Amino acid sequence: MSVPLLDLQSIDKVYPNGTVALQDINLTISPGEFISLVGPSGCGKSTVLRLVAGLGAPTGGTMDWPCPINQRNLAFVFQDPALMPWANVVDNIHLPLKLKGQSLRSVRAKIQEAINTVDLCGFEKSYPRQLSGGMKMRVSIARALVTKPQVLLMDEPFGALDEMTRSRLNSDLLHLWQKRHWTVLFVTHNIYEAVYLSTRVIVMAAHPGRVVADVPIEVTAPRENSFRTSSQFNHYCREIMAVLSKEEGVGVG
Ligand code: ADP
Repeated sequence: MSVPLLDLQSIDKVYPNGTVALQDINLTISPGEFISLVGPSGCGKSTVLRLVAGLGAPTGGTMDWPCPINQRNLAFVFQDPALMPWANVVDNIHLPLKLKGQSLRSVRAKIQEAINTVDLCGFEKSYPRQLSGGMKMRVSIARALVTKPQVLLMDEPFGALDEMTRSRLNSDLLHLWQKRHWTVLFVTHNIYEAVYLSTRVIVMAAHPGRVVADVPIEVTAPRENSFRTSSQFNHYCREIMAVLSKEEGVGVG
């Protein structure tokens, strides 16, 4: 068995105002997994992501990174693409490298590679106001990829997009993950998106935030669009919905 990338043991997070955001979270993540965290608003999904990113510390338990240090290069993608409106696509993607003191000239090729990866060739000089919501999200993903991360932390990245765009970006992300072998920790409250993308879906419940199911999505064939309409896909969605309904007493959106 491979060395885990990250091991969370009995993690608690109580915010200073007394909110118990997480209680006794145990989660071991192996390199190359695509893990989604699903659950209703307020169950602590974003808190898990922030703790993994080192943005705040747990109030109990331990977080270990047993893997070599070069496998811990993290990048964060949020729902809001947060692009600089006065800067074009190239300059927006350059930002994280600029912050490390790398000039545009020295990293031009890396930026172009990231642009090609997210299919934005031809839009290098466009400004955010000239791009659709889906294209802005592609810029945001390219800005994360340009740092060559091994681990992608994604907090509802496609939550604000229309269904068609979300579906297209889901497929593109899946293909990229299959090619690049990243480890992805993905927050969503869309069960269908979670099942389509993930190798494992972690189902959470609120008050206090906790894990209520850990569902491996075992798909043998390469995962293509046809998976979305298969009986296997429906089976996983129903299984996860049943857990959520039992915990909440209602379905989730
Ligand atoms: P989710 O991502 O599943 O919607 P969050 O991780 O954002 O959940 O929040 C979990 C719980 O912690 C919620 O009850 C939320 O109101 C609370 N919370 C989140 N951040 C803070 C904070 N900085 N201070 C106090 N409470 C917080």
